[in-house]
Amino acid sequence: MPSQRSNTTWQRVLTLLEKQHGRPERPAAPPRSPLAQLVLALLGDDTSERKAALALRRLEAECVDFNELRVTRPREFAELAQMVADPVGKAVTISRVLNQLVERTGSVDLDFLTQLPITQARAFLEQLDDVDARTIASVILFALGGNAIPADASVVRVTKRIGLINRALSAERAQAALERMVPAADRFTFYALMVTHGEAVCLVKVTRCEDCALKKVCESSRVRAKRSARSTGAKKKATTKKAKAAKKAVRKTAKNKSAAASKKRSKKAKKKVTTKKKSGSAARKRSKK
Ligand code: SF4
Repeated sequence: MPSQRSNTTWQRVLTLLEKQHGRPERPAAPPRSPLAQLVLALLGDDTSERKAALALRRLEAECVDFNELRVTRPREFAELAQMVADPVGKAVTISRVLNQLVERTGSVDLDFLTQLPITQARAFLEQLDDVDARTIASVILFALGGNAIPADASVVRVTKRIGLINRALSAERAQAALERMVPAADRFTFYALMVTHGEAVCLVKVTRCEDCALKKVCESSRVRAKRSARSTGAKKKATTKKAKAAKKAVRKTAKNKSAAASKKRSKKAKKKVTTKKKSGSAARKRSKK
């Protein structure tokens, strides 16, 4: 069971993100077949959704079907999908996965999954080597009408920064934690908003906290604000200390100056008295004569 605190926080996050980006509409029908979604998810590893979708479109345009893609040389595949990270590695992985389908089902097809309950479809996908939890979640969410939260890089990054999940969790564990936290009915909305937010506001290298609807609930933002307040406080303290020292120095100089002046005055006065005494005694001597 998720804790009450986590529950409250994810709901608040969802409400705030809906205010900022609007409520995403779930497509009425799956946008692509389970196999196309599987290939798209594999292409999307460490790559933005936009680039992975572009690569899939080019591959589909150049190959007759996924069976031809299965036997396409990695170099040719990589040329078509050069916009994704590690295209040669992905060519090898995708070919291996498609080969497993032929071995297990006799064809390069996953349409039969749409006829199975989600748990059975998941169990089938879990048997395939090189198909990770994120890819399975993506097929379930977008091609089978199920509910899941694929641990895309932006989903993991944003939820960790907000403080919804532990920063030390692997992507797979992060996905499991989020799926335990967010009820099935809200998973599509949660996932879609996290992806949008991660690509528009809370990017990998740039965080636009000032424009972020989550700045008041986000752990990273709070930590950053505390740090900057501490450093401003320290700077203020150092400036005050400096100003006090400067004032003290001015006071000391003034004191020294006035002491020197009074010393000079008393010396002058003494000299005047001595001169007066001397002239008095000289006068007395002259009158005696
Ligand atoms: S407040 Fe900043 S760090 Fe937190 S989610 Fe928003 S942009 Fe990301």
